[in-house]
Amino acid sequence: MSEDQHDQQEQPEQPDQETAERERPALDPERAARRAAALRHVRQFGDPVLKTRALPVDRFDDALREEIARMGVIMEDSIGIGLAATQLGNLQRVLVYRVEQDSPLNALVNPVIEWKGDEEETMEEGCLSLPRVLVDVERPVHVRVRAQDENGDPIVVEASGLEARVIQHELDHLDGVLILDRTSRDQRKQAMRAMREAEAEKDERAA
Ligand code: ZN
Repeated sequence: MSEDQHDQQEQPEQPDQETAERERPALDPERAARRAAALRHVRQFGDPVLKTRALPVDRFDDALREEIARMGVIMEDSIGIGLAATQLGNLQRVLVYRVEQDSPLNALVNPVIEWKGDEEETMEEGCLSLPRVLVDVERPVHVRVRAQDENGDPIVVEASGLEARVIQHELDHLDGVLILDRTSRDQRKQAMRAMREAEAEKDERAA
């Protein structure tokens, strides 16, 4: 999940997508270059792997732990707050996230939502695999997730608010589900148009 989402309750007047893009503070050149390099590792919309269900992890070895560390670095460098293994083309049920800047990297292996609260909330979400797209997604505010850590030990996470949202967003990726599948038809159409325009701009620059 990218760092673009805004709480609608706090900002009743949403700027349109383009404005939101323009208002984002410019990154310094070094950081921007690092972000661009990291994003090259992230599969983009249209890649069939993003529509594929990931498989449970049964080996908790050094390769898994190295992959989790690599996911953390790519997420950080891309300025994301969550990343699913499928977004790197790795079909394992692994996700990482960090909602608060100074907290340690959270990694969930084989996560399962075992309980969702009744209360739901709509917020704008972005995604590292969907450049320039921000759409409204309604999700439960509170969830309890059962998972394993990088060593295979069982963990339970009780999450609310943004943390719950990021976990659900990344868990969707592990099931081949994108935010476009979770938003209104209108917003999906708008998002597709924005992506087509971004592609066209890129082609123009390349020509
Ligand atoms: Zn995403």
